[in-house]
Amino acid sequence: MMNRPIYLDCHATTPMDDRVLETMLPYFRERFGNPASVSHLYGWEAEAAVTQAREQLAIAIGAEPEEIVFTSGATEANNLAIKGVAEAYFNQGRHIITVQTEHKAVLDPCRYLQSLGFRVTFLPVQADGLLDLADLEQAFCPDTILVSVMAANNEIGVLQPLAEIGARCHDRGVLFHTDAAQAIGKVPLDVATLSIDLMSLTAHKVYGPKGIGALYVRRRNPRVQLAPQLHGGGHERGMRSGTLYTPQIVGFGKAVELALVERVTETQRLTELRDRLWQQIRLDGVRLNGHLTRRLPGNLNVSVDGVDGQALLLGLQPIVAVSSGSACTSAKMSPSHVLKAIGLADELAYASIRFGIGRLNTGPEIDQVASATIATIRSLR
Ligand SMILES: *Cc1c(COP(=O)(O)O)cnc(C)c1O
Repeated sequence: MMNRPIYLDCHATTPMDDRVLETMLPYFRERFGNPASVSHLYGWEAEAAVTQAREQLAIAIGAEPEEIVFTSGATEANNLAIKGVAEAYFNQGRHIITVQTEHKAVLDPCRYLQSLGFRVTFLPVQADGLLDLADLEQAFCPDTILVSVMAANNEIGVLQPLAEIGARCHDRGVLFHTDAAQAIGKVPLDVATLSIDLMSLTAHKVYGPKGIGALYVRRRNPRVQLAPQLHGGGHERGMRSGTLYTPQIVGFGKAVELALVERVTETQRLTELRDRLWQQIRLDGVRLNGHLTRRLPGNLNVSVDGVDGQALLLGLQPIVAVSSGSACTSAKMSPSHVLKAIGLADELAYASIRFGIGRLNTGPEIDQVASATIATIRSLR
């Protein structure tokens, strides 16, 4: 039997933790009730499970359980936050600020709003991937209603200065949304100290199931208004209708709880593995993308000078599952918008590898990947 490649693509998705799966199973079987059913045990036990998950999420980000709105993932949470705020506040202003390196699930809703007449500023980043706070300050207009800046980048792992951004938004009475899909469970997140008004989360990047996420929506100082994007039974206090997906919600809560408990030791372990990989593969002409230390512990993104990107990826494919610095849209390759934003030429962006190290990876695996990477680069040069 052919060996499966070593999985180092944890920014795309993570394997589900067995402990998460175990907590979900009863809710696929005998505890199948609808949490909105108020007249019998089946509904009550489902409702209790959802309440517990809401608490687990709230604790992880310093919020109240009533401030958590369950969604199908971070894409939907971003859409609800950005379009929901735009629709609720357009009488106060029609200007939104975001950043060029955001996920498509933020950029595309912003572009959609542009088509409706909103103005959007897409701020550049510095060569290390970090936002320049002076650029942000200059971008504020009297009619700015929302700033959306991600917590951790999904390609280069860079951690944006959320507290500084939040303070600047708060001073001006502008709402602050952050896409924390990559950050939850990996870096500390506290909505109070970071002055965050809206935060998008997802389970499948933190060893939970796919198809479930949440939006944190601040309830006081200020109380954030949100126009729902899905209308129906009035679930989630009217902000997101649809029967709650109890097993996924239970798994999400458990996944975040586990990540919180293990975060400090896991951060140290992943940082060591990441640095071990980098120390081995930093040959001449291999450069690191993104800030050296202000990044996710499991992230390493490198570009390789003088090799063909496609050949590099093909060479690595049998040994390691990673992503490259290009996105395949309708069978056509285009260089990553994130790598372009930090100033990489197309050729170098194509010849980039994103390593996403996670909970199940081991030291020997990292060494194996390092040897394979070095051998592949040498053979292509
Ligand atoms: C994965 C990801 C998303 C999309 O999340 P889904 O739950 O898959 O919709 C959005 N933003 C970032 C930064 C991500 O990494």
